[in-house]
Amino acid sequence: MSVADKVAAIFSGPGIAGIHFKLGSLEVSPQRLHEVGRAIKKGDISIVVAKTGTLLSAAYSPHSDSLTIPDDKLATKTSRSGILHEGIHALVDIYKCKQVTVLDDEVAAYLAEVIYLKAIGGWVGGGKAAMRIYDAADDLAKAHNLYKKRGVKLSLSDADELRKAIHAHPAYSSIGAKQMTSGHGLHKH
Ligand SMILES: [Zn+2]
Repeated sequence: MSVADKVAAIFSGPGIAGIHFKLGSLEVSPQRLHEVGRAIKKGDISIVVAKTGTLLSAAYSPHSDSLTIPDDKLATKTSRSGILHEGIHALVDIYKCKQVTVLDDEVAAYLAEVIYLKAIGGWVGGGKAAMRIYDAADDLAKAHNLYKKRGVKLSLSDADELRKAIHAHPAYSSIGAKQMTSGHGLHKH
C-alpha cells in the first residue's frame, strides 16, 4: 500500500461517519471527507513525509496542495487524528471556503479531531497550550452533542472559547483575528 493510499484510507475509515457539523458557513461532513481522501488517492493532493517542526505534527499547504506527515507508518491514533486535522484544511481548500477565517478553519479542524478521537477510542497528550485547545474542543463538542448527533449547526460565537484557546497557542498567535483562508481550490495537475 502506498503512503497516499494509506493516508487516503483514513478519510473513509473508522470514525469518519460521525464527523458532521456546520460552523457558520463551513460544512464538515463524511461525504466531504471522502472527497479529501479521493483527492489524495488521485494525487491531486500530494503526500510529503517530513518533520513539520516541534509545534505541529502535520501540515497542509494550499499553495502546493500538499499534506506533510511526520512518518509513513501512521501507527498511532494521534498520528491519524493529526492527518484528519490537516484534511479539514484540505476540505476548506477543495470546497473553496473563502469566507472562512484561518482561526475558524482551525476551530473546525480541532473539533473534527476530538470527534474522531472519541469515535476511535483515543485521546491526545501534550503541553499546556495544546491541551487547552483539546479541552475547549471537548467542551464545545459536549455542549452541542457533537459526539452523538450529526449535522449540528454551530454559530461562530459558539466557538469563542475554542477560538481563544487556539489563538493563545504559540503556533497560531501570529494569525490575525480576521485573516481569511486562501480557500482557492486545488490547482490543475
Ligand atoms: Zn490546523
